[in-house]
Amino acid sequence: MKALVIERPEEMHIVERIRPEIKEGEALIRVQYIGICGTDVHVLHGHHPTATFPRIPGHEFVGELVEIKGEGSELFQIGDIVTAQELLTCGVCDSCAKGEDNACIHLQIIGVHADGGFAEYVKVKTKKLFKIPKHIDIKRAALIEPLAVAVHDVRMSGMQVGENVLVIGGGPIGLLIGLVAQRGGAGKVVISEVVESRRKLAEGFGFIALNPLEEDFEKKLLAVNEGKGYDVGFEAAGVPSAITTLVDHVKNTGTIVQIAMTKGPYPVDTGKVFAKELRIQGVRIHNQYNFGGAVNMVVDGALDEKLDKLISKVFEFNKVTEAFEYAEKCKEAFKVLVKVGQ
Ligand SMILES: [Zn+2]
Ligand SMILES: [Zn+2]
Repeated sequence: MKALVIERPEEMHIVERIRPEIKEGEALIRVQYIGICGTDVHVLHGHHPTATFPRIPGHEFVGELVEIKGEGSELFQIGDIVTAQELLTCGVCDSCAKGEDNACIHLQIIGVHADGGFAEYVKVKTKKLFKIPKHIDIKRAALIEPLAVAVHDVRMSGMQVGENVLVIGGGPIGLLIGLVAQRGGAGKVVISEVVESRRKLAEGFGFIALNPLEEDFEKKLLAVNEGKGYDVGFEAAGVPSAITTLVDHVKNTGTIVQIAMTKGPYPVDTGKVFAKELRIQGVRIHNQYNFGGAVNMVVDGALDEKLDKLISKVFEFNKVTEAFEYAEKCKEAFKVLVKVGQ
């Protein structure tokens, strides 16, 4: 099969590889579309702290089921359109036992620690497989994985219907959080984002978009929310000022969700956390139940046009290197997909 291999950081080629063989409890997917994620770019540059090489990157894939073995295989048919949660979990640690598979102490991730979906075929765990009805536009299904991150983040926030939400960072995850919160009954959704095209996109979705680099940003944050604090804040920017803004602008007893992988430990005003009785909730990837929630949201069709707007460009597989460059360097780029097979 053809596969995109990162031999070592900064060295990436399309090469011929042997098609993976599956064992009991595994399934083989013929990849049709795959999204480029920030994680893939981090792996390419050697910035992912635990990635191993050589590695086929990619975890946002969707395609056709071609082979399946063992328990659970009776739920699927060869030829089904499927995607899979990319987590390889031990199944026996305390986190796994609680259904918090994303916090498995032995967690490995397809595309980071095992070969991923930038290839004609990818091997996954049968128990992590999800079927997509055939009438669903497969490009939208390629957004299920990042959408699952947003579903996990909003569910973990405990956001209630009618609550006002502040999202710092209007990248793919930040805007998907906005869409999930909106669909979950949020009141106002306010997005703080420096890139103008992303603010435009946010406004098109019905969010209030503010530029944190503007001098009166703090004033505007208050003004658009009638001078009050926000019920829930999402940190999806990964810069030190993001958590500071949230500690200041989330209301007493509100919740801050830490989504971004920060470059270092960033200072938090623990005095304010105490005085306002704030809850700071870390979130990591998505658990399997919440991944299923994202599948449901794509299948029910309510987000169709919005998801289409998030797809900035689709590249053919032989142009995958350019796709990576475009995803990384073009400020206007949002979600970039690669078409691997028919
Ligand atoms: Zn991703
Ligand atoms: Zn585990």
